[in-house]
Amino acid sequence: MANSLLQVTDLKKYFYQGKATVKAVDGVTFQIDRNETFGMVGESGSGKTTVARAVLRLHEPTSGQVVFDGRDVLALPDREVRALRREMQIIFQDPLSSLNPMMSVGTIIEDALKIHGIGTRAEREEEVRRLLDLVGVGRKFYHAFPHEFSGGQQQRVGIARALALKPRFIVCDEPVSSLDLSIQAQILNLLEELQERFGLAYLFISHNLKVVEHLSDVVGVMYLGKLVEVGDTEAIYRRPAHPYTQILLASAPQMDPGARSKRILLEGEVPSPIDPPSGCPFHPRCPHRMARCSEEVPVLKQIGSGHQAACFLT
Ligand code: SF4
Repeated sequence: MANSLLQVTDLKKYFYQGKATVKAVDGVTFQIDRNETFGMVGESGSGKTTVARAVLRLHEPTSGQVVFDGRDVLALPDREVRALRREMQIIFQDPLSSLNPMMSVGTIIEDALKIHGIGTRAEREEEVRRLLDLVGVGRKFYHAFPHEFSGGQQQRVGIARALALKPRFIVCDEPVSSLDLSIQAQILNLLEELQERFGLAYLFISHNLKVVEHLSDVVGVMYLGKLVEVGDTEAIYRRPAHPYTQILLASAPQMDPGARSKRILLEGEVPSPIDPPSGCPFHPRCPHRMARCSEEVPVLKQIGSGHQAACFLT
């Protein structure tokens, strides 16, 4: 899309282990508009976090293109990448390990402002107190330390730190998966409120399709370094086309603890990207596999309005 805030095209990230090549991300294309959430789901080892890190240049991509607000991110010199990080932030899965235990939460959040030379000391402190109010922690906890908070409150501090530089795009990397179900909903609601207020774009990563349903406008399903299905949230949840998406949906725990569903468990592990299966990467685990599935690679193709899948059955 011409005016997307973020356009990622044919992104690849390979790691080299001796003579082996690990194709952690292998040709991923997607875009995110302003005020939009792209939910990226898949099991552990599917490459979702590597995509996010490559987009932010925390890992240097092997090839592909990342354009953010018209700027070619992969072509920028390091100095400009650092400046771009003001606009592209990340919220981590484990809030406690991402917060320095020796520093007060006020100092942790203020550090981001200080590094970028923003404001006087007094202005920075007032801004941090405002941010602590904004995320629901409360300004009076400026001098508290991370271990004094619950997991949910720690994640709110992580969100305040991500917001400090007034970014336009935030990677949310499994931001609720270490939290209790009731707290997960509160953090998701907070992220939604902040998006509406500031027009933020999110790349929201989760291994659980149910978690991303409420927040996402578009969902991409990753398997072994590739997107195997991409679609508007409605299409993915009402008409999942790829057998992997169908099984992921049926096997996901419910966000609503009262909801009952017949859970189907996905058999086997994600194969190693060092030695991926021939043909369709999902064929060893697919209940619908056919002879051609182990020989030919299905490509992502349009199967409906705003809906693509990589499967011979679609
Ligand atoms: Fe299953 Fe074949 Fe479709 Fe792959 S291409 S998901 S193995 S039916």
